[in-house]
Amino acid sequence: MSASPRPGTAHHDVDVVVVGAGFAGLAMLRELRDERGMSVRVLEAGDDVGGVWFWNRYPGARCDVDSTDYSYTFSAELDAEWDWSERYATQPEILRYVHHVADKFDLRRDITTGARVTRADWDDAEGHWDVVCEDGTTARGRYLVMATGCLSAVKRPDIPGIEEFAGQVLHTADWPREPVDLAGKRVGVIGTGSSGIQVIPRIAPEVAELVVFQRTPAFSVPAHHHVLSDAERAALRLTLAQRREQLRSSPTGLSVPVTKRGALDDDEQARRAHYEEQWRTAGFGFLLAYNNLLVSHEANATAADFIRSKIAERVEDPELAAKLSPSSYPYGAKRPCVDTGYYETFNRENVTLVDIADAPITGATATGLTTTAGSHDLDVVVLATGFDAMTGSLLRPTITGRDGVTLREHWSGGPRTYLGLMTAGFPNMFVIAGPGSPSLLGNVMVSIEQHVDWVSALLADSAAAGTPVIEATAEAEAGWVDHVNAAAAPTLYMEAASYYLGAEVEGKPRVFMPYAGGLRRYRRECDAVAADGYTGFERSPAPGDVRVPQPA
Ligand code: NAP
Repeated sequence: MSASPRPGTAHHDVDVVVVGAGFAGLAMLRELRDERGMSVRVLEAGDDVGGVWFWNRYPGARCDVDSTDYSYTFSAELDAEWDWSERYATQPEILRYVHHVADKFDLRRDITTGARVTRADWDDAEGHWDVVCEDGTTARGRYLVMATGCLSAVKRPDIPGIEEFAGQVLHTADWPREPVDLAGKRVGVIGTGSSGIQVIPRIAPEVAELVVFQRTPAFSVPAHHHVLSDAERAALRLTLAQRREQLRSSPTGLSVPVTKRGALDDDEQARRAHYEEQWRTAGFGFLLAYNNLLVSHEANATAADFIRSKIAERVEDPELAAKLSPSSYPYGAKRPCVDTGYYETFNRENVTLVDIADAPITGATATGLTTTAGSHDLDVVVLATGFDAMTGSLLRPTITGRDGVTLREHWSGGPRTYLGLMTAGFPNMFVIAGPGSPSLLGNVMVSIEQHVDWVSALLADSAAAGTPVIEATAEAEAGWVDHVNAAAAPTLYMEAASYYLGAEVEGKPRVFMPYAGGLRRYRRECDAVAADGYTGFERSPAPGDVRVPQPA
């Protein structure tokens, strides 16, 4: 299908069309344009850059990876002029950083905002992608890079009668840009994952009543975030290079020491002391307190029991503490959370927990929400219900590859990729931090930069060889799918109804989507493929006399 723009909208004919102007899209744009001399157009649905940090502006939103490690590493000048103010940066500070990067590297001139991609079609005869946006913007590019994020397709629960509700309905991942005044209001929050756990303690002191609708309790440990002192910032600067090196070579992309100790190597007293110490400092790294928490039930149970004992200490009412304590899945099998005062929030007079596993929500009325056990009058409903993870943002647009096959058809049994980067039958389409990559299981920034550099080198190599049409073979894809399954099989990840497994959306194929082999191993695998002449990819000349993009 050829792209023709609506009157008043633009058409972009470029080497590369990038979808999404979050961390991944901006990195891809800078790399391909400034390092490889390619023409790039980024199409972004939001009306500004920032991706997930543009949309998730709910109160309390912040990252839970140390800010220093949640930064680009491609520019020493950028490092030198940017100072994070807190251990875990808030959403506004991260967005300021993204804007700073966009301005500093003059990225905005190649970005169209307010352009939600609705379809992308591979033209086999011409060897390019035609891309169409909801607003009529169109683009054509030799390459298509989907930098749409793994947690960006917002999931709204189906609540019968919600349109009758007279109050406000907000989603954490689609929070209004203008301030929302919750003071003195009766607010219901549905969902107790990372977003719920951040928003709940933050709004509890200002609202009149807070009703938390919990389906599955989460494991959460204290974040210990704080404003960085001058001395801490100076120390971070001094160790930055070493820290970066450690991130690149670590299995998680996190600056958390990797221990060789298993939980059962310590006796109970030593283990408890170690957990106490981790509890006081580790934040998200608590999951790495021992090296076998995600592979051994017995080891996992020691950590899970410890966290449950802490919940019991933090929540005054033992019955409430029990309801807030997860027991139906191993610690870490769902993405663990970190919090600031989450459990203590339930000691407040104005906060109520409603267990919707026992008494599910049946619907909404003009005045609030009803469950099988009763009704709750509310002024505002906050949906902290997460995302159609990993595949949602790739399957919501219609993407058609060779022979008219859609990505939805090709992935009907679950996502299939080679190295998490390409999929057979979809030539010249790359996914950044998508299914089959380690992205979600570690520091996504490290994955993003690895992907961007690796894809950039592949494009340069292919251009130099006069074979700019690149496609993963079906065999390589099948091999990677097996490899991803094999990496996940021995882990406890398989034992929770998580979004890693596609359990968050009814009817979604239950396949483990991220690569559980770790970032270090993943990087080695990718490097070996490149060193071997890009095995698993078929590369061919461009059809006809179409211009071959040349690297700088
Ligand atoms: P989430 O982890 O998927 O949690 C969604 C919550 O909503 C769960 O408690 C889920 O219950 C509940 N829920 C979903 N559908 C429901 C329904 N129909 N009825 C009732 N409850 C429902 O989503 P999230 O909290 O937005 O976080 C997603 C991911 O984003 C995180 O895991 C993390 O990777 C990232 N994130 C990071 C940060 C951070 O850096 N600190 C902050 C926010 C988000 P069930 O468990 O029963 O499905």
